[in-house]
Amino acid sequence: MTSPYAIQIEQTGGVEVLQKVEREPRVPGPGEALVRQTAIGLNFIDTYHRTGLYPVKLPFTPGSEGAGIVEAVGEGVETLKPGDRVGYLGAGAYTSHYTGRAAMMVKLPDGISEETAAAVMLKGLTAWMLLFEVRRASPGETALVWAPVGGVGSLLVPWATSLGVKVIAATSSEDKAARARELGAAETVLTNGNVAEAVRELTGGKGVDVSYDSVGKASAEASLNSLKPRGWWISYGNASGAAEPIAPVILGAKGSLVLTRPSLFSFIPTPQDLERGAAALFGALRAGTLKPHIGQRFALSDVGQAHTAIESGKTVGATLLIP
Ligand code: NDP
Repeated sequence: MTSPYAIQIEQTGGVEVLQKVEREPRVPGPGEALVRQTAIGLNFIDTYHRTGLYPVKLPFTPGSEGAGIVEAVGEGVETLKPGDRVGYLGAGAYTSHYTGRAAMMVKLPDGISEETAAAVMLKGLTAWMLLFEVRRASPGETALVWAPVGGVGSLLVPWATSLGVKVIAATSSEDKAARARELGAAETVLTNGNVAEAVRELTGGKGVDVSYDSVGKASAEASLNSLKPRGWWISYGNASGAAEPIAPVILGAKGSLVLTRPSLFSFIPTPQDLERGAAALFGALRAGTLKPHIGQRFALSDVGQAHTAIESGKTVGATLLIP
């Protein structure tokens, strides 16, 4: 058996700053649990921490979600016990053993594997936040979904479709467009063309009710120009870099648009909110509305290769790191 270890960065930069270090797991304090990890979900935000786009205090262990078996619990933890299978959200997940807040861990129901949990917790809860919490998606409306076959996108497209939303998927290749249609997208547009023009054509000139935009810098203008009056630009990611600032007057001139930049953690401030989101997510998985798609697996010690893969824009579905 290998000794407990973590991936650490001592300075921000390229993938070479991700270093493996031996590290004994921390004994859980009050309200904490120690998890022996079996799978860790890779998220784009991990690359922002590595590069410094989102500043962190160094040295830093990246990673935002994982799953495994509880080994020990700290004082006052009544919801979990050793042997329970859990998925969790929390900082510092790139470790063989994770100690963190029990309040951010959920017990996995039968039928939800640890790999599935690591693949969908953060990304699926983001899709839940976008469809139910930021604003409620309604049957009959039309949505533009960017990066539709990525980690979040491959959950967002089928979930939106199941709610009666007509999805127009904007993606970079014909292969990905075909996959987006398999996931339920009614229409696809390629991002190497004029997306807003294509969206206008597909909507009889009207535009869409909402743009779920995870691409950021490269998609901002097209998102804005694809909306109906009073449409929503939900800018929730920066896969191509952070979008430029925009003057409120522009939102007015384009028809009283709404711009919001949601962050999942504002929508799950309490364990009850997390439970509510997880129940919706696990329910959608069990109903078959969502099918987890693990497109890539890497050993945790090869995490640099995993970052290169997701940053290349070529991955599909979720990427897992296996300790
Ligand atoms: P993805 O699997 O979606 O990967 C990113 C995708 O973005 C690519 O596959 C590609 O899809 C598209 N893309 C467009 N331009 C670029 C570019 N220049 N470089 C790389 N990719 C590009 O990642 P995730 O599902 O992990 O995350 C998606 C986004 O959602 C991220 O920006 C992430 O930070 C954000 N997010 C936000 C959360 C929140 O709380 N606000 C929570 C979770 C995620 P295509 O080829 O189809 O264009």
